[in-house]
Amino acid sequence: MNSLSKAVAVLFCLSTTFGVSAENNKLSDTEKQIVKAVENNFQSQINFLEKIVNINSGTRHLKGVREVGKAFEQEFSKIGFKNTWIEMPKEMDRAGHLLSEKSFGKPGKKIMLIGHLDTVFPKDSPFQKFERDKNDPNKIIGPGITDMKDGDVVVLFALKALVDGGYVSKGQVSVFFTGDEESTGKPISISRKAMIEVAKRSDLALNFESGTPGKGVIGRRGSSGWQLTVTGKRAHSSGIFSDHTGAGAIFEAGRILNDFYQEVKGEHGLTFNPGVIAGGTFVDADADGAGFKAYGKTNVVAQKVVVKGGLRFVSEEQKERARDKMRKVIEKNLPQTDATIEFQDSYPAMTATDANRAELKKFSDVSVALGMEPLTEFDPTKRGAADISFVAPYVTSMDALGAWGGGSHTPNEWLNVESFELATKRTAVYLYRLLNE
Ligand SMILES: [Zn+2]
Repeated sequence: MNSLSKAVAVLFCLSTTFGVSAENNKLSDTEKQIVKAVENNFQSQINFLEKIVNINSGTRHLKGVREVGKAFEQEFSKIGFKNTWIEMPKEMDRAGHLLSEKSFGKPGKKIMLIGHLDTVFPKDSPFQKFERDKNDPNKIIGPGITDMKDGDVVVLFALKALVDGGYVSKGQVSVFFTGDEESTGKPISISRKAMIEVAKRSDLALNFESGTPGKGVIGRRGSSGWQLTVTGKRAHSSGIFSDHTGAGAIFEAGRILNDFYQEVKGEHGLTFNPGVIAGGTFVDADADGAGFKAYGKTNVVAQKVVVKGGLRFVSEEQKERARDKMRKVIEKNLPQTDATIEFQDSYPAMTATDANRAELKKFSDVSVALGMEPLTEFDPTKRGAADISFVAPYVTSMDALGAWGGGSHTPNEWLNVESFELATKRTAVYLYRLLNE
């Protein structure tokens, strides 16, 4: 190609790209039909939400969680999905997960849609019922109604509109609803194994936790724990600071925590919090494992200190960097003291990658096409860990595709009804575009 034709080709490419982008901000005729189908189903969508909100599914109420799962199984079967219930070991005391899958004929994009069936409200909670707000027709109250039975129902009815209308002829959808998001079964290596396997064979994972107008979630911080154990020489207090007795465990613990504050703190997105501390002559763990019993006297140099804390991070690299710095700090012991630190992994970080960002752009285009505002990235430091975090290290991921509401984990949990319909339309059109890419 000579340089003129190259320039023409580049211009042509540019104009095509811009052309497509502008088109994406509008609904095609088919997409308008999909939106109409969601509207036509909306009353039965609300009825189904009512039915499953009225089934208590507190994480430890296994029968209730399975019953909610069963209700979804029946609906997914009607649109040709194959259901599998993934059992957990008995001693874990969790209900398991629902996996519903469908291949649409020709090979194409493999999409994983994530939700959870459980809520934080136990079987004996006074908060059990789906109830319309008497003063606000746009508001419905109910346990788990925005965290996240609404999101699960958005998934079902978006897929229903697409399948019933025959709008998809390639690709694959895997719906994965966990039964223990609010209190994850341990060990995580078992309770999240199947979920990670499905993620590894998918091209994209979408989580339907509640949304925020104008925002998309493509990054969430990970969380982990640490325990610091400091030892000193037990001796009469009159000898403290001497070569023989040294500083004692409590001064050394103070030194370490101060150095953590001075030397490890500072990176954007990194926080760590000592949550509990106990020190003295003897320190023993409480029966429930959350606290400690400490015994000591003012005239005895402290022999032991235990500190338990948490650490949050925006990437695995940041987590490792912080841990290395902490390890260096604890090595610089005051006289006659020693310290060890142990780290426990919990939720990995969902790092805001460029691939996640590109999906957010597509999803934003759909929002605009539906008359909503364009989406910008939610600050990852303001979102806690969620199920999407387990799969984000393996696959392009996005979260907060659900409807909006508020008061989650409280007896005032509510759903914005309009957003419930909008979120379903948006998901249906977005999935339609993805499956036809
Ligand atoms: Zn949730």
